[in-house]
Amino acid sequence: MKELYAPGHRTCAGCGPAVAVRHILDAFGENTVITNSTGCIEVTSSPYPQTSWKLPYLHATFENAASIACGVVEALKQQGKEKVNVLSLGGDGGTVDIGFGALSGAFERRHNFTYVCYDNESYANTGVQCSGSTPFGAWSSTSPVGKKKQGKDRWKKNTAFIMAMHGAEYVATASISNPEDLKRKIKKGLEYEGSKYIHVITPCPIGWKFDSQKTIEYSRLAVDSGMWALFEIDQGEFKITEKPKDLGNVENYITGQGRF
Ligand code: SF4
Ligand code: MG
Repeated sequence: MKELYAPGHRTCAGCGPAVAVRHILDAFGENTVITNSTGCIEVTSSPYPQTSWKLPYLHATFENAASIACGVVEALKQQGKEKVNVLSLGGDGGTVDIGFGALSGAFERRHNFTYVCYDNESYANTGVQCSGSTPFGAWSSTSPVGKKKQGKDRWKKNTAFIMAMHGAEYVATASISNPEDLKRKIKKGLEYEGSKYIHVITPCPIGWKFDSQKTIEYSRLAVDSGMWALFEIDQGEFKITEKPKDLGNVENYITGQGRF
């Protein structure tokens, strides 16, 4: 496969988001412009004057990757280049919390682009703070575990459903343990004109506190246990795309992770 995300970037060993980006770019192909909000992937891949991006790439701030994508879409339209894919990429912090207003507005206006959230379930880049995507009971540096508190005391935000409620053309969840499924979903979304949303679970050995060799193993356990459901909402129609093999058995998934 041709690499559009060059090696030599500075993510930690076993970084789930870095694995996701390779597959995401493989699915999008060369005819793509990227906007990327602040986050692990951005800080590790684009410290001036170096870059890992072999495609046109715009770094946005935490809150506005989706707005900048809309600007790119409109600029390309003016240039008669409507066949160029526009990918907006953000972590969970930049997507479900800080950048959510821009994302919601872009989908409400039906801009023709795909937003992909790589979800490592915390603000990993700034020291593993709790985000709206951190799961119930997980430690983070702002949801400590001790006598009085047992990690995060709220449920994870269901952002894929929230985006579907915007009337998105296509919404899907994915996992880096199922790369062909991830790529198929991205390509399926690209068949539609309008706003598409893909949410990928991307384990982070630093924030989740597991051995860096086990990134794919935890991605798979998340899917098998049902802790991360794989589905798509295609033109408003909901469909589970893979039945969990061991639904409800979360023990294997959580015991090896220091954050639980
Ligand atoms: Fe990747 Fe986690 Fe390191 Fe961020 S902190 S670069 S998500 S492994
Ligand atoms: Mg994150």
